[in-house]
Amino acid sequence: MKAIQYTRIGAEPELTEIPKPEPGPGEVLLEVTAAGVCHSDDFIMSLPEEQYTYGLPLTLGHEGAGKVAAVGEGVEGLDIGTNVVVYGPWGCGNCWHCSQGLENYCSRARELGINPPGLGAPGALAEFMIVDSPRHLVPIGDLDPVKTVPLTDAGLTPYHAIKRSLPKLRGGSFAVVIGTGGLGHVAIQLLRHLSAATVIALDVSADKLELATKVGAHEVVLSDKDAAENVRKITGSQGAALVLDFVGYQPTIDTAMAVAGVGSDVTIVGIGDGQAHAKVGFFQSPYEASVTVPYWGARNELIELIDLAHAGIFDIAVETFSLDNGAEAYRRLAAGTLSGRAVVVPGL
Ligand code: NAD
Ligand code: ZN
Ligand code: ZN
Repeated sequence: MKAIQYTRIGAEPELTEIPKPEPGPGEVLLEVTAAGVCHSDDFIMSLPEEQYTYGLPLTLGHEGAGKVAAVGEGVEGLDIGTNVVVYGPWGCGNCWHCSQGLENYCSRARELGINPPGLGAPGALAEFMIVDSPRHLVPIGDLDPVKTVPLTDAGLTPYHAIKRSLPKLRGGSFAVVIGTGGLGHVAIQLLRHLSAATVIALDVSADKLELATKVGAHEVVLSDKDAAENVRKITGSQGAALVLDFVGYQPTIDTAMAVAGVGSDVTIVGIGDGQAHAKVGFFQSPYEASVTVPYWGARNELIELIDLAHAGIFDIAVETFSLDNGAEAYRRLAAGTLSGRAVVVPGL
């Protein structure tokens, strides 16, 4: 079968031919219908050899949707042909965090060698993929897999980040979204649907800000050196109750801290260069502001998102690519010229 793989440190991902996998006991084989391309893939492929821990060759893709093609021994109650999306942050299923649905924070994954698809295990950018347990599948019924697959990360990660801050998003409050790409443009929609906050979106170009407005941002601000001042003109002295930074480089984290209000949440989702940090301390950060760095989301939260998708609340922007053209999706991602999410569709 065809797959898009990262084969050598520093090389571009490439189209390869690999054997079609067979599901082992407890596993599920999916015929992939859609696979999303995330900026985190670009981050891991930028890592030097000594920091790269995901194995080579790596079949990319941690956002997956498919049709159940076969099940391994012991898997019951899952019909062949069922349309599903994959919950990606696989955990053991048994530890305390996993028992809360928070497999993204599984305390035993490392010890047991459990890795997410596309981030250690073979991913979704292929004609077929193995899912380690039916627990990690959410049926999507008649939803379009191409528009739904981004919810597995570009939706789930902001949903998890926003849910914890909802009590702060009262009427008259402000939420700031920095970076309105794959994750950010879904975050804006979730904020509009779930909260009463005024949503202010920041990005680097008019095109990107146009998408932000289209998906519901009340106000848009260019993310330049004057960004904090321009956001403050909107929020006044109250500042933002929640700042979501989907970029995570030093300038955006500094902007995030500068627009945060007293008692706010500053939530850094973007990995940036993996080095940037928020400065917290007297006379440097607002009183009682909390800074946090979340990772992905919980299993129940993906089920909730699929319910929201059935309710029709999302307008997910996607650009589609065939598997043969998958490497181009990564080029466009790195160049910053995508609008919304790049989705690879093996059937194209
Ligand atoms: P993306 O490339 O689709 O979107 C990034 C957006 O940020 C683009 O619109 C870009 O124009 C904008 N941007 C770049 N520099 C900016 C700046 N200085 N100010 C404002 N906007 C700027 O990326 P994505 O797939 O949405 O991922 C966003 C980030 O989140 C990445 O760093 C990714 O690695 C990370 N991520 C983290 C998690 C997690 O669990 N914490 C999960 C998924 C992705
Ligand atoms: Zn991701
Ligand atoms: Zn666990």
